[in-house]
Amino acid sequence: MQEARDIYEMCQNYSTIIIQRHVNPDEDALGSQLGLKDILQRAFPEKRIYAVGKNSDRYGWIGTMDQIEDDVYQDALVIILDCGSLERIDDERYQKARQIIKIDHHPAVDRYGNIQAVYPDASSVSELIADLVNDLPDQLSFSKEAASALYAGIIGDTGRFLYPATSQRTFEVASQLLSYQIDLATIGRKDEEITPAVAKLMGNMLAHLEVDDCGAAYYIITQDLLTSLGLKAEDAGDVVAMPGQLTTVKAWLLFVEDETGKYRVHLRSKGPKINQLALKHHGGGHELASGATVEDLDEVHVMIKELKELLQ
Ligand code: AMP
Repeated sequence: MQEARDIYEMCQNYSTIIIQRHVNPDEDALGSQLGLKDILQRAFPEKRIYAVGKNSDRYGWIGTMDQIEDDVYQDALVIILDCGSLERIDDERYQKARQIIKIDHHPAVDRYGNIQAVYPDASSVSELIADLVNDLPDQLSFSKEAASALYAGIIGDTGRFLYPATSQRTFEVASQLLSYQIDLATIGRKDEEITPAVAKLMGNMLAHLEVDDCGAAYYIITQDLLTSLGLKAEDAGDVVAMPGQLTTVKAWLLFVEDETGKYRVHLRSKGPKINQLALKHHGGGHELASGATVEDLDEVHVMIKELKELLQ
Protein backbone atom coordinates (compact mmCIF):
# COMPACT_ATOMS: atom_id res chain seq x y z
CA MET A 1 0.00 0.00 0.00
CA GLN A 2 1.50 3.25 -1.23
CA GLU A 3 0.39 5.21 1.85
CA ALA A 4 1.70 2.68 4.41
CA ARG A 5 4.59 4.76 5.70
CA ASP A 6 2.52 7.95 5.92
CA ILE A 7 -0.18 6.09 7.85
CA TYR A 8 2.39 4.71 10.26
CA GLU A 9 4.03 8.11 10.81
CA MET A 10 0.68 9.77 11.44
CA CYS A 11 -0.14 7.09 14.02
CA GLN A 12 3.21 7.76 15.71
CA ASN A 13 2.16 11.38 16.26
CA TYR A 14 -0.92 10.59 18.35
CA SER A 15 -1.41 9.11 21.80
CA THR A 16 -5.08 8.35 21.06
CA ILE A 17 -6.24 6.50 17.93
CA ILE A 18 -9.91 5.72 17.33
CA ILE A 19 -10.89 3.24 14.62
CA GLN A 20 -14.36 3.46 13.04
CA ARG A 21 -16.21 1.90 10.07
CA HIS A 22 -19.59 1.96 8.35
CA VAL A 23 -23.03 1.55 9.94
CA ASN A 24 -24.67 -1.90 9.85
CA PRO A 25 -21.22 -3.48 9.95
CA ASP A 26 -20.49 -6.69 8.08
CA GLU A 27 -17.60 -9.08 8.63
CA ASP A 28 -15.15 -6.98 6.65
CA ALA A 29 -16.01 -3.76 8.50
CA LEU A 30 -15.63 -5.45 11.89
CA GLY A 31 -12.76 -7.75 10.95
CA SER A 32 -10.64 -4.93 9.53
CA GLN A 33 -11.50 -2.67 12.46
CA LEU A 34 -10.69 -5.16 15.22
CA GLY A 35 -7.74 -6.59 13.32
CA LEU A 36 -6.21 -3.13 12.91
CA LYS A 37 -6.85 -2.29 16.55
CA ASP A 38 -4.89 -5.36 17.64
CA ILE A 39 -2.08 -4.67 15.16
CA LEU A 40 -1.68 -1.05 16.30
CA GLN A 41 -1.90 -1.98 19.96
CA ARG A 42 0.99 -4.42 19.48
CA ALA A 43 3.03 -1.76 17.68
CA PHE A 44 2.19 1.01 20.16
CA PRO A 45 1.47 -0.53 23.58
CA GLU A 46 1.63 2.91 25.23
CA LYS A 47 -1.13 4.45 23.10
CA ARG A 48 -4.87 4.44 23.75
CA ILE A 49 -6.47 2.64 20.81
CA TYR A 50 -10.22 2.14 20.49
CA ALA A 51 -12.67 0.46 18.11
CA VAL A 52 -15.90 2.47 18.09
CA GLY A 53 -19.40 1.92 16.68
CA LYS A 54 -22.52 -0.10 17.46
CA ASN A 55 -22.01 -3.70 18.47
CA SER A 56 -23.31 -6.27 15.99
CA ASP A 57 -25.62 -9.08 17.13
CA ARG A 58 -24.94 -11.10 13.99
CA TYR A 59 -21.16 -10.73 13.95
CA GLY A 60 -20.50 -10.26 17.66
CA TRP A 61 -18.25 -13.34 17.52
CA ILE A 62 -15.61 -11.22 15.77
CA GLY A 63 -15.38 -8.96 18.80
CA THR A 64 -16.92 -6.08 20.72
CA MET A 65 -16.68 -2.33 20.49
CA ASP A 66 -15.23 0.12 23.01
CA GLN A 67 -17.50 2.67 24.68
CA ILE A 68 -15.75 6.04 24.92
CA GLU A 69 -16.69 9.53 26.10
CA ASP A 70 -16.74 12.51 23.73
CA ASP A 71 -13.64 14.09 25.24
CA VAL A 72 -11.50 11.12 24.14
CA TYR A 73 -11.82 12.50 20.61
CA GLN A 74 -9.99 15.67 21.57
CA ASP A 75 -6.57 15.58 19.90
CA ALA A 76 -7.25 12.08 18.58
CA LEU A 77 -6.48 10.50 15.23
CA VAL A 78 -9.47 8.71 13.69
CA ILE A 79 -9.01 5.92 11.16
CA ILE A 80 -12.15 5.16 9.14
CA LEU A 81 -12.35 1.81 7.41
CA ASP A 82 -14.59 0.41 4.67
CA CYS A 83 -16.74 3.51 4.31
CA GLY A 84 -16.99 5.43 1.02
CA SER A 85 -19.49 8.05 2.16
CA LEU A 86 -19.48 10.39 5.16
CA GLU A 87 -23.14 9.80 6.03
CA ARG A 88 -22.50 6.08 6.55
CA ILE A 89 -19.76 6.45 9.15
CA ASP A 90 -20.84 4.81 12.38
CA ASP A 91 -20.52 7.45 15.07
CA GLU A 92 -20.48 10.99 13.79
CA ARG A 93 -18.07 12.00 16.56
CA TYR A 94 -15.32 11.32 14.00
CA GLN A 95 -15.84 15.02 13.17
CA LYS A 96 -14.16 15.95 16.46
CA ALA A 97 -10.89 14.28 15.45
CA ARG A 98 -7.75 16.31 14.78
CA GLN A 99 -6.87 14.24 11.71
CA ILE A 100 -8.52 11.43 9.74
CA ILE A 101 -7.16 8.50 7.75
CA LYS A 102 -9.48 6.73 5.33
CA ILE A 103 -8.73 3.16 4.22
CA ASP A 104 -11.33 1.75 1.85
CA HIS A 105 -12.10 -0.43 -1.14
CA HIS A 106 -15.37 1.23 -2.21
CA PRO A 107 -15.41 3.52 -5.21
CA ALA A 108 -15.32 6.89 -3.39
CA VAL A 109 -18.62 8.70 -2.91
CA ASP A 110 -17.00 11.30 -0.62
CA ARG A 111 -13.33 12.14 -0.64
CA TYR A 112 -12.39 12.71 2.98
CA GLY A 113 -9.40 12.27 5.24
CA ASN A 114 -5.90 13.71 5.54
CA ILE A 115 -4.65 10.43 4.12
CA GLN A 116 -6.87 8.49 1.71
CA ALA A 117 -5.82 4.94 0.91
CA VAL A 118 -8.56 3.81 -1.46
CA TYR A 119 -8.16 0.66 -3.54
CA PRO A 120 -11.45 -0.29 -5.25
CA ASP A 121 -9.93 -3.44 -6.76
CA ALA A 122 -9.06 -4.95 -3.36
CA SER A 123 -11.32 -7.80 -2.27
CA SER A 124 -11.80 -6.30 1.18
CA VAL A 125 -10.42 -3.76 3.61
CA SER A 126 -9.17 -6.70 5.66
CA GLU A 127 -6.88 -7.59 2.75
CA LEU A 128 -5.69 -3.95 2.68
CA ILE A 129 -4.88 -4.04 6.40
CA ALA A 130 -2.81 -7.17 5.79
CA ASP A 131 -1.00 -5.30 3.01
CA LEU A 132 -0.31 -2.42 5.40
CA VAL A 133 1.36 -4.85 7.81
CA ASN A 134 3.32 -6.54 5.03
CA ASP A 135 4.57 -3.18 3.78
CA LEU A 136 5.99 -2.34 7.22
CA PRO A 137 7.50 -5.63 8.41
CA ASP A 138 9.84 -3.95 10.89
CA GLN A 139 7.06 -1.95 12.51
CA LEU A 140 3.83 -3.97 12.33
CA SER A 141 2.95 -7.62 12.93
CA PHE A 142 -0.03 -9.96 13.18
CA SER A 143 -1.23 -11.80 16.25
CA LYS A 144 -3.46 -14.85 16.06
CA GLU A 145 -6.41 -12.61 17.07
CA ALA A 146 -5.70 -10.05 14.34
CA ALA A 147 -5.23 -12.79 11.75
CA SER A 148 -8.56 -14.38 12.76
CA ALA A 149 -10.45 -11.08 12.48
CA LEU A 150 -8.91 -10.26 9.09
CA TYR A 151 -9.61 -13.75 7.77
CA ALA A 152 -13.26 -13.39 8.82
CA GLY A 153 -13.39 -10.07 6.94
CA ILE A 154 -11.92 -11.60 3.80
CA ILE A 155 -14.28 -14.57 3.65
CA GLY A 156 -17.21 -12.28 4.43
CA ASP A 157 -16.56 -9.82 1.60
CA THR A 158 -15.50 -12.41 -0.98
CA GLY A 159 -18.34 -14.84 -0.23
CA ARG A 160 -15.59 -17.33 0.65
CA PHE A 161 -13.42 -16.54 -2.35
CA LEU A 162 -16.35 -16.66 -4.77
CA TYR A 163 -16.88 -13.07 -5.95
CA PRO A 164 -14.80 -11.62 -8.82
CA ALA A 165 -12.86 -9.19 -6.58
CA THR A 166 -11.10 -12.27 -5.18
CA SER A 167 -7.55 -12.19 -6.58
CA GLN A 168 -4.32 -14.10 -6.40
CA ARG A 169 -3.31 -11.58 -3.74
CA THR A 170 -6.41 -12.45 -1.71
CA PHE A 171 -5.34 -16.09 -1.58
CA GLU A 172 -1.77 -15.13 -0.68
CA VAL A 173 -3.00 -13.03 2.22
CA ALA A 174 -5.44 -15.75 3.35
CA SER A 175 -2.63 -18.30 3.24
CA GLN A 176 -0.40 -16.00 5.28
CA LEU A 177 -3.16 -15.49 7.89
CA LEU A 178 -3.59 -19.26 8.20
CA SER A 179 0.02 -19.52 9.30
CA TYR A 180 -1.03 -17.84 12.57
CA GLN A 181 -2.93 -20.99 13.61
CA ILE A 182 -6.32 -19.38 13.27
CA ASP A 183 -9.34 -21.61 13.83
CA LEU A 184 -10.43 -21.89 10.22
CA ALA A 185 -13.29 -24.31 10.87
CA THR A 186 -14.87 -22.24 13.64
CA ILE A 187 -14.63 -19.00 11.67
CA GLY A 188 -16.11 -20.70 8.61
CA ARG A 189 -18.93 -22.18 10.68
CA LYS A 190 -19.73 -18.83 12.31
CA ASP A 191 -19.76 -17.18 8.89
CA GLU A 192 -22.41 -19.55 7.53
CA GLU A 193 -24.46 -20.13 10.69
CA ILE A 194 -28.11 -19.07 10.57
CA THR A 195 -30.86 -19.26 13.17
CA PRO A 196 -34.00 -21.37 12.58
CA ALA A 197 -35.97 -18.14 12.06
CA VAL A 198 -33.59 -16.99 9.31
CA ALA A 199 -33.91 -20.46 7.73
CA LYS A 200 -37.68 -19.88 7.57
CA LEU A 201 -37.11 -16.48 5.97
CA MET A 202 -34.87 -18.16 3.38
CA GLY A 203 -37.57 -20.73 2.64
CA ASN A 204 -40.14 -17.99 2.23
CA MET A 205 -37.84 -16.05 -0.07
CA LEU A 206 -37.06 -19.04 -2.30
CA ALA A 207 -40.76 -19.84 -2.54
CA HIS A 208 -41.77 -16.29 -3.50
CA LEU A 209 -38.78 -14.84 -5.34
CA GLU A 210 -39.94 -13.10 -8.54
CA VAL A 211 -37.62 -13.72 -11.52
CA ASP A 212 -38.30 -12.25 -14.98
CA ASP A 213 -37.15 -13.57 -18.37
CA CYS A 214 -34.07 -11.29 -18.38
CA GLY A 215 -32.81 -12.60 -15.06
CA ALA A 216 -33.94 -9.69 -12.89
CA ALA A 217 -35.15 -10.93 -9.51
CA TYR A 218 -36.58 -9.30 -6.43
CA TYR A 219 -38.10 -10.09 -3.09
CA ILE A 220 -39.73 -7.80 -0.53
CA ILE A 221 -39.39 -8.54 3.18
CA THR A 222 -42.12 -6.73 5.09
CA GLN A 223 -42.09 -5.71 8.75
CA ASP A 224 -45.02 -8.09 9.26
CA LEU A 225 -42.98 -11.02 8.00
CA LEU A 226 -39.99 -10.05 10.16
CA THR A 227 -42.22 -9.68 13.22
CA SER A 228 -43.95 -13.01 12.64
CA LEU A 229 -40.54 -14.70 12.54
CA GLY A 230 -39.15 -12.73 15.49
CA LEU A 231 -36.46 -11.16 13.28
CA LYS A 232 -34.98 -7.68 12.92
CA ALA A 233 -34.21 -5.96 9.61
CA GLU A 234 -30.48 -6.58 10.03
CA ASP A 235 -31.10 -10.36 10.17
CA ALA A 236 -32.15 -10.22 6.53
CA GLY A 237 -28.46 -9.80 5.65
CA ASP A 238 -28.10 -13.56 5.92
CA VAL A 239 -30.36 -14.22 2.94
CA VAL A 240 -29.01 -11.56 0.57
CA ALA A 241 -26.60 -13.80 -1.36
CA MET A 242 -28.98 -16.71 -1.85
CA PRO A 243 -30.93 -15.65 -5.01
CA GLY A 244 -27.59 -15.72 -6.85
CA GLN A 245 -27.61 -19.50 -6.58
CA LEU A 246 -30.51 -19.71 -9.03
CA THR A 247 -29.42 -20.43 -12.60
CA THR A 248 -32.05 -18.02 -13.94
CA VAL A 249 -30.99 -15.02 -11.85
CA LYS A 250 -28.50 -12.42 -13.19
CA ALA A 251 -29.09 -9.55 -10.76
CA TRP A 252 -31.40 -9.11 -7.82
CA LEU A 253 -32.89 -6.65 -5.36
CA LEU A 254 -33.81 -7.52 -1.82
CA PHE A 255 -36.03 -4.94 -0.11
CA VAL A 256 -36.29 -4.94 3.68
CA GLU A 257 -38.95 -2.74 5.25
CA ASP A 258 -37.84 -0.89 8.38
CA GLU A 259 -39.95 0.34 11.33
CA THR A 260 -40.56 3.69 9.60
CA GLY A 261 -41.95 2.16 6.40
CA LYS A 262 -38.80 2.85 4.34
CA TYR A 263 -37.03 0.00 2.55
CA ARG A 264 -33.37 -0.85 2.83
CA VAL A 265 -32.30 -2.24 -0.55
CA HIS A 266 -29.58 -4.82 -1.11
CA LEU A 267 -28.49 -4.90 -4.77
CA ARG A 268 -26.46 -7.80 -6.09
CA SER A 269 -25.33 -8.93 -9.53
CA LYS A 270 -23.43 -11.73 -11.23
CA GLY A 271 -22.17 -9.44 -14.01
CA PRO A 272 -24.20 -6.37 -15.03
CA LYS A 273 -23.08 -3.35 -12.98
CA ILE A 274 -25.74 -2.29 -10.50
CA ASN A 275 -24.00 0.44 -8.48
CA GLN A 276 -25.35 3.21 -10.76
CA LEU A 277 -28.84 2.03 -9.89
CA ALA A 278 -27.94 2.29 -6.20
CA LEU A 279 -26.50 5.79 -6.70
CA LYS A 280 -29.70 6.88 -8.44
CA HIS A 281 -31.52 6.05 -5.21
CA HIS A 282 -29.05 7.84 -2.92
CA GLY A 283 -27.07 4.70 -2.16
CA GLY A 284 -23.78 3.36 -3.44
CA GLY A 285 -21.31 0.54 -3.15
CA HIS A 286 -19.47 -1.81 -5.47
CA GLU A 287 -20.27 -2.65 -9.09
CA LEU A 288 -21.72 -6.03 -8.15
CA ALA A 289 -22.83 -5.39 -4.54
CA SER A 290 -24.48 -2.14 -3.51
CA GLY A 291 -27.00 -0.76 -1.05
CA ALA A 292 -29.59 2.03 -0.89
CA THR A 293 -32.68 3.10 1.03
CA VAL A 294 -35.98 3.92 -0.71
CA GLU A 295 -38.89 5.90 0.68
CA ASP A 296 -41.91 3.71 -0.01
CA LEU A 297 -43.45 0.91 -2.10
CA ASP A 298 -43.79 3.22 -5.10
CA GLU A 299 -40.04 3.72 -5.19
CA VAL A 300 -39.56 -0.02 -4.66
CA HIS A 301 -41.49 -0.65 -7.89
CA VAL A 302 -39.60 2.07 -9.74
CA MET A 303 -36.34 0.35 -8.80
CA ILE A 304 -37.60 -3.06 -9.89
CA LYS A 305 -38.59 -1.57 -13.27
CA GLU A 306 -35.15 0.04 -13.61
CA LEU A 307 -33.39 -3.24 -12.88
CA LYS A 308 -35.49 -5.00 -15.52
CA GLU A 309 -34.60 -2.28 -18.07
CA LEU A 310 -30.93 -2.63 -17.16
CA LEU A 311 -30.96 -6.34 -17.94
CA GLN A 312 -32.97 -6.13 -21.17
P1 AMP B 1 -25.24 -4.34 1.75
O1 AMP B 1 -26.30 -4.64 0.75
O2 AMP B 1 -25.71 -3.53 2.91
O3 AMP B 1 -24.51 -5.58 2.16
O4 AMP B 1 -24.18 -3.40 1.02
C1 AMP B 1 -23.47 -3.82 -0.11
C2 AMP B 1 -22.29 -2.88 -0.34
O5 AMP B 1 -22.79 -1.58 -0.63
C3 AMP B 1 -21.39 -2.72 0.88
O6 AMP B 1 -20.06 -2.60 0.41
C4 AMP B 1 -21.85 -1.46 1.53
O7 AMP B 1 -20.82 -0.83 2.22
C5 AMP B 1 -22.33 -0.63 0.33
N1 AMP B 1 -23.49 0.19 0.69
C6 AMP B 1 -24.62 -0.23 1.27
N2 AMP B 1 -25.49 0.79 1.43
C7 AMP B 1 -24.89 1.90 0.95
C8 AMP B 1 -25.27 3.28 0.84
N3 AMP B 1 -26.45 3.71 1.25
N4 AMP B 1 -24.37 4.13 0.31
C9 AMP B 1 -23.17 3.70 -0.10
N5 AMP B 1 -22.75 2.41 -0.05
C10 AMP B 1 -23.59 1.51 0.47
